[in-house]
Amino acid sequence: KTKIYHNLRPQVQLPSTNQPLSASEYAISLLRSSSLSLENTISFIDSSTDSRLSYSDFIKQVESLSFSLHNRFGLKTGDSAFILSPPSLQISILYFSLLSLGVIISPANPISTIPEISRQISLSKPVIGFATNVTSSKLPSFLHGTILIDSDDFKSMLTIQPGRVNVRVNQTDTAAILYSSGTTGKVKGVELSHRNIIALTAGFDKVRMEPVEENPPHPIALFTIPLFHVFGFFMTIRAVALGETVVLMERFDFVGMLKAIETYKVTYVPVSPPLVVAMAKLDVVEKFDLSSLTVVGCGGAPLGKEVSEKFLSRFPNVQITQGYGMTETTGGSYEDVRAEETKKHGSVGRLSENMEAKIVDPDTGEALPPGQRGELWLRGPIVMKGYVGDNEATVATFDSEGWLKTGDLCYIDNDGFLYIVDRLKELIKYKAYQVPPAELEQLLQSHPEIADVAVVPYPDEEAGQIPMAFVVRKPGSNLSGTEVMDFVAKQVAPYKKIRRVAFISSIPKSAAGKILRRELIDSIQSTPSSK
Ligand code: AMP
Repeated sequence: KTKIYHNLRPQVQLPSTNQPLSASEYAISLLRSSSLSLENTISFIDSSTDSRLSYSDFIKQVESLSFSLHNRFGLKTGDSAFILSPPSLQISILYFSLLSLGVIISPANPISTIPEISRQISLSKPVIGFATNVTSSKLPSFLHGTILIDSDDFKSMLTIQPGRVNVRVNQTDTAAILYSSGTTGKVKGVELSHRNIIALTAGFDKVRMEPVEENPPHPIALFTIPLFHVFGFFMTIRAVALGETVVLMERFDFVGMLKAIETYKVTYVPVSPPLVVAMAKLDVVEKFDLSSLTVVGCGGAPLGKEVSEKFLSRFPNVQITQGYGMTETTGGSYEDVRAEETKKHGSVGRLSENMEAKIVDPDTGEALPPGQRGELWLRGPIVMKGYVGDNEATVATFDSEGWLKTGDLCYIDNDGFLYIVDRLKELIKYKAYQVPPAELEQLLQSHPEIADVAVVPYPDEEAGQIPMAFVVRKPGSNLSGTEVMDFVAKQVAPYKKIRRVAFISSIPKSAAGKILRRELIDSIQSTPSSK
């Protein structure tokens, strides 16, 4: 008696799979079919320079860049491009241009270290790099070199407009390789197709058809989320499809964000939970006029019910919409889209259009009815193709019927709302950024005074979770907690730092040698941290 959940909103018609169509073409066609004036609607605003671009100029610049990349650099469908840059106007143009050429976008966190970048590059095998004057020194040399997107040469490629390129991009072609550690181990390259992006975008376009208010203001979104992560990557495409105006912040800071909401009369901010916490609590919030704000869209990590309630008591006129997704599902799968759906605090909303879900007992593999807890499995058009060049990981993540195992412990209520209870997989989320424990454990294993180690999440109000190391010292070693933290900090991007250490005599393991993480997590309350 299998229990499969289907989405409860009307199905959304997707373009026929056989039709060649890139995610960029699709988003721009939705934009063109709307009643917006492309000349008079601003696409993106760079808040650091206040430079802005109308949608008609955005499209022209995308076409011009595509022409240059195709003709000057010979970029073609199936090539992959590595991108290392903070958010900027140029990045949004570059994304659309590469998508329209069928060139695979592979963006990474600009604060990554060189070894982290090398590993990502070995997965995505790029032929060209896009970086800034500041980040380019971290890149190796590529077949077609590295283009600096803050250079005059790049600027000229945006405006020459000598002609248009016509390339055939199939929906099944890979659009992006984004990095995720999945449910275990080290970072992997998540292959998302144009079809994945089209399917998720189509659902949101449907939402636009049914406005909640009679005369809603033109949506102005402020992106505080990184564009290399699936959240910001997808939101960029969605914004164009819906004709939203997007304010980009090159460097995030909280006060800068408040100021930008006031200056640009922002109506919508997609955020991760730490920002909702800050907006609910910090006094500085009172200094700004945030009355334009109507929606805060939160995703990427769990948002506590108390936090939402605290936020709503401070901002009674703002709706919090929650969303749940993974890099492996193009960032979507469950979300609140209707006003009435946002009212269930603690829930991450309802299943996206055209998707199926199951809650599976992790021990028996049995599908469970509403109200019972198990692992969430997902199937449908937004689920990734697989992990690039890693068949073993791909096979382990899907079951034989094509269900993606999310590694999240959840339940679904009688009205189809999803609640995330816990994480079954080996993943720490520091401010919604992925920190794979296995990667830190491998690093720590290489320390001459460490005999054994396990890294687990430690609860933290501000960050959600922080990485904590349980360390077994070698006999005779006096290694300190601070030394352990410094050792890691030198080799990883700052968000992956170990922020708490405890020394123990042995790491609990199963008969098969697997770390019993649950046991360590449960012991955390009684374990003091060591300096
Ligand atoms: P990522 O691939 O970086 O987007 O990470 C995906 C994981 O983040 C999910 O499998 C969840 O464990 C967690 N996550 C994402 N959104 C939420 C949410 N709204 N509530 C709780 N956990 C979430």
